[in-house]
Amino acid sequence: MSTFRIGQGFDVHRLAADRTLILCGVELQGVPGLEGHSDGDVALHALADALFGAVGCGDLGEHFPPEDPRWRDVESRVIVRRALEHVRQAGFRLANGDLTIIGERPRIAAHRRALREALAQILEVEVGAVSVKATTTDGLGFAGRGEGLAALAVVLVEEDSRDD
Ligand SMILES: [Zn+2]
Repeated sequence: MSTFRIGQGFDVHRLAADRTLILCGVELQGVPGLEGHSDGDVALHALADALFGAVGCGDLGEHFPPEDPRWRDVESRVIVRRALEHVRQAGFRLANGDLTIIGERPRIAAHRRALREALAQILEVEVGAVSVKATTTDGLGFAGRGEGLAALAVVLVEEDSRDD
């Protein structure tokens, strides 16, 4: 019998015209980037929070305090790797992850393959174990006005019975 846990994460970043947009560790050209003390990767931040949540291990702000200069401009893949390490230390491994990016731009469909492959690489799982979806808010709210991007993440982790 396997033991499973789920975790969910949510994050929002304000758009910043002078920054490069980075989602799932991938640079996307031609659209505004995101503010943030790190690289502003809203998708990876939501994912890291989901990983921390799945094993009841605090949250992103606790592990990477925004006021801590060590994390200034840190690549968010480092944050996700750290969260994954907590999952492993708790005796679990990632079964699958599902991301939803919420905003008017960019059109995620054109980048979905690249984003999924990048995620799979960061998480060290098969591409089939990660999903990247996108939605708009029908023009409503901060996302609809193009003021920011939001991301939702859900992960399932499975007790790791391997001895290694
Ligand atoms: Zn964030």
